[in-house]
Amino acid sequence: MYKLGILIVLVLFGAGVMVTAQKQVAITIDDVPNIRKYQLDGKIAFLTYLSENNIPSAIFINESRLLKDSDASNNYLKPWIDDKYVTVGSHTYSHPHYSEVELEEFTKDIIKGLVVSTGLAAQTGKTIDYFRFPFNDLGNDLNEHNAIQDVLDSLHLILTPFTVESSDWMFNSIYEYYLKNDSINKAEEIGRAYVDATMKSFEWMDSLTIAQYGRTVKHIYLCHDNSINADYLPIIVDKLRASDYQFISLDDAMNDEVYQQPSHFHKSWGISWVYRWMTDEEERKKLMRQEPGVMEYYKIYERIRSVPKY
Ligand SMILES: [Zn+2]
Repeated sequence: MYKLGILIVLVLFGAGVMVTAQKQVAITIDDVPNIRKYQLDGKIAFLTYLSENNIPSAIFINESRLLKDSDASNNYLKPWIDDKYVTVGSHTYSHPHYSEVELEEFTKDIIKGLVVSTGLAAQTGKTIDYFRFPFNDLGNDLNEHNAIQDVLDSLHLILTPFTVESSDWMFNSIYEYYLKNDSINKAEEIGRAYVDATMKSFEWMDSLTIAQYGRTVKHIYLCHDNSINADYLPIIVDKLRASDYQFISLDDAMNDEVYQQPSHFHKSWGISWVYRWMTDEEERKKLMRQEPGVMEYYKIYERIRSVPKY
């Protein structure tokens, strides 16, 4: 009986480890640094939250965001790069659509975007190994996808995919609009909607990978350096923890063998890699149509964008 008890405990413990080990996510943040926001707030609240809670993240930098004044990189970019939980990545200099510019021009923009951050990273013993495409636009067709992959290989940069995102850029535009117009209740409503959309997006992608691979994968969550994440990512983190997610580094996530798979999607749209790995185009389209939508908020976003002087 005693031995049986031990066995049951071991089996349960093993199952528990399996469950927790399967639900993991790396947070990745594009369009860093958001200097306009840091200056308004007088602090980098997003970084402070992640750092104080020991949450790893990977940042993707646009150096065009650094102001002409030379203190900007020291005041607003260096704190991110110096943080021990932060992996440093590049996101080009000026955030162009690769599908809309020539290969040579795009390549020059990548190289220009590495100058300041490589120097700052070296000061703290880090290197820049990861690159994320602006808009996750990898080019119009297979030839363009292959051509830029060769460029990344020559620069020793790893293309950074993502599995989950929830249109945080759109929710953020509405959120900031309401904050600016003193509609605090509406802003909070949008914040909660962003949290709900994100949790639904995780559930959806988990359901797809379980159907496809029989397991959850090490997710890579894509979001941006903006107001709604500074205020609501902490709530998303709490909810993910309550759903047994662990927060891991981008290196750790990329060790999942799913990321070794080739992409079968060769257009310019910035869709999740969970869809890109699907070989059946019709099946991919069908599942994308079934994805939990955010259309009602997109309509608000479009309306706000049409308001003059915003
Ligand atoms: Zn971006």
